[in-house]
Amino acid sequence: MDLFTTGDPIRDAAAPDGPIETRWERRRFGARLVNPANRRKLTVIVVGTGLAGGSAAATLAEAGYRVRSYCYQDSPRRAHSIAAQGGINAAKDYRNDGDSIYRLFYDTVKGGDFRARESNVYRLAQLSVNIIDQCVAQGVPFAREYGGLLDNRSFGGAQVSRTFYARGQTGQQLLLGAYQAMERQIAAGNIEMNARHEMLELIVVDGRSRGIVVRDLVTGEVSTELADAVVLASGGYGNVFFLSTNAKGCNVTATWRAHRKGALFANPCFTQIHPTCIPESGTHQSKLTLMSESLRNDGRVWVPVRASDSRQPAEIPEDERDYYLERMYPSFGNLVPRDIASRAAKNVCDEGRGVGPGGRGVYLDFADALQRLGRAAAEEKYGNLFEMYQRITGEDPYVVPMRIYPAVHYTMGGLWVDYDLQSTIPGLFVIGEANFSDHGANRLGASALMQGLADGYFVLPNTINNYLAAGPFPDVSDRAEVTRARRAVVDRLDALLSVGGDRTVDSFHRELGHVMWEYCGMERTEEGLTKAIGLIRGLRDEFWQRVKVPGTGEQLNQNLEKAGRVADFFELAELICVDALHRRESAGGHFRAESRTPDGEALRHDDEFGYVAAWEFTGGRPVLHKEPLTFEYVHPSTRSYK
Ligand SMILES: Cc1cc2nc3c(=O)[nH]c(=O)nc-3n(C[C@H](O)[C@H](O)[C@H](O)COP(=O)(O)OP(=O)(O)OC[C@H]3O[C@@H](n4cnc5c(N)ncnc54)[C@H](O)[C@@H]3O)c2cc1C
Repeated sequence: MDLFTTGDPIRDAAAPDGPIETRWERRRFGARLVNPANRRKLTVIVVGTGLAGGSAAATLAEAGYRVRSYCYQDSPRRAHSIAAQGGINAAKDYRNDGDSIYRLFYDTVKGGDFRARESNVYRLAQLSVNIIDQCVAQGVPFAREYGGLLDNRSFGGAQVSRTFYARGQTGQQLLLGAYQAMERQIAAGNIEMNARHEMLELIVVDGRSRGIVVRDLVTGEVSTELADAVVLASGGYGNVFFLSTNAKGCNVTATWRAHRKGALFANPCFTQIHPTCIPESGTHQSKLTLMSESLRNDGRVWVPVRASDSRQPAEIPEDERDYYLERMYPSFGNLVPRDIASRAAKNVCDEGRGVGPGGRGVYLDFADALQRLGRAAAEEKYGNLFEMYQRITGEDPYVVPMRIYPAVHYTMGGLWVDYDLQSTIPGLFVIGEANFSDHGANRLGASALMQGLADGYFVLPNTINNYLAAGPFPDVSDRAEVTRARRAVVDRLDALLSVGGDRTVDSFHRELGHVMWEYCGMERTEEGLTKAIGLIRGLRDEFWQRVKVPGTGEQLNQNLEKAGRVADFFELAELICVDALHRRESAGGHFRAESRTPDGEALRHDDEFGYVAAWEFTGGRPVLHKEPLTFEYVHPSTRSYK
């Protein structure tokens, strides 16, 4: 199949060179500024109120810009970020255990399997320390040690303890901090908050991003909203797999619509499968639940040595248990990165040694930790996670080991952005999980919150000035592009409503997710991906002939919302598979069965694939633009956690 063509390479025009430690400082100094009086004349639209969008909106408004924020939930503080459990990384070295900015930078580049930009990752590590100070100043209740210092724990892919946390509710507490900062600016009249509004189109005039088309989810009204610049902070697209740990509402529409308008989409096949989720329990399930990676600090992962061993865990003696992560990776043990731990779990289950219904599970056992720490200390650290597990499975993890299995969790791919976080459409900035991010082919635990807040509190508020300094831009309200964008949205909604078929949106989404998981999940092959593309195309055609969307567009209509999102997932799914097919190497979460080392680990091909794959939408075959990656500091090597 001739699935794509190759276009000109791209380069990150905003990235400075020279010593890596001073690049961010020099970029900030080189960027143009907007004087405070002029900021009041400039409007910025921010789509999304999670950690990335919330922090950006608050900071831009605090600086004096007029901000208009949008989210589809009924309140900004219900963004998916609220679900984040385990923690946020920062190179504070409070533990005096050898951490440093350089080590966080090193761990992140290596953890991402050498598929991220060094300049961005170094900046992220530098800013990590500022984030903690900012959040503490806001009153975020991070866990503290007896002496009063902030406490840290360990996460995968690191041998130091650098993860700051607020029990198992870190995302919620951080989001409350950002939300309060936003609320202050809403009250001051600098942020106009539009909850329950969904962006359905990007408006591009004279090559610049000038606004969005939104639908009021309560009344159904479709309107155009204009501004000098647009920031997308709309989160990740893991729900293309239907079952994932993401909130049910997470979707790709905002970024996909921008992609269709000219923004390149980078590395879509880099998806993260998290090793510690509660296994699927039946065919009617619509969501999977994460058990935070922090549990791997104290939990030990094991399966029986023998295949098809149906004994209860307590009946299996020590010498008939295989603590396979500790055995295979003695230096990192249970704290190997997520991609490695997920594949190892899949492999032992494929060998018939999995536990629980269907044999798709491994034990995460706290018996040793409970003996060492005592129940009260364990409860303090992990109490809410244990309770959540018990409520869902009916089993008490204080008594029997948890059962866990990998599930889709995070997407490293997203809209391509330069060092300034600007997409290939001038005036369109993308932050948080929505951009292709600093995590390469595999994100380390507790690094998404760090990246979202670095983008929102520190990077974007500096780099967007450089663009806005050329504004205010001319009024475009009567331009044909604006009317056309609105018309396109109305026509599409009408098209979805008028199919009048006999299959629910969910049934299509579930089937799409099944294809993605089966052929583009933890292990990918040329044959499977080719098959998946055919299946996705067939299913997409069927969707447009048979989908049933009851109700009308002039009312609250959740079926209509879902239908639009699933229609976009179909288009994205095909691009994910094309990207996965073209990348004939294994890297991080992208494991091509044809490309493995003799002992079964991921085998990269740096000469051929040491680039970011940025895809251009054409309506037909997508065009691949390569951004070559160079490594001056952390030299590519085979990742080893042994
Ligand atoms: C269960 C779970 C636990 C996690 N735990 C951790 C952790 O401990 N540490 C860590 O670092 N990371 C963790 N992560 C990852 C992390 O939570 C996310 O990557 C991060 O919160 C994403 O933040 P965001 O601001 O980019 O997007 P989100 O929080 O997803 O926010 C997206 C926003 O965009 C809005 N939006 C989207 N589309 C539209 C549209 N079309 N129109 C209008 N509004 C729109 C939404 O309403 C929402 O406000 C976890 C993820 C999951 C699923």
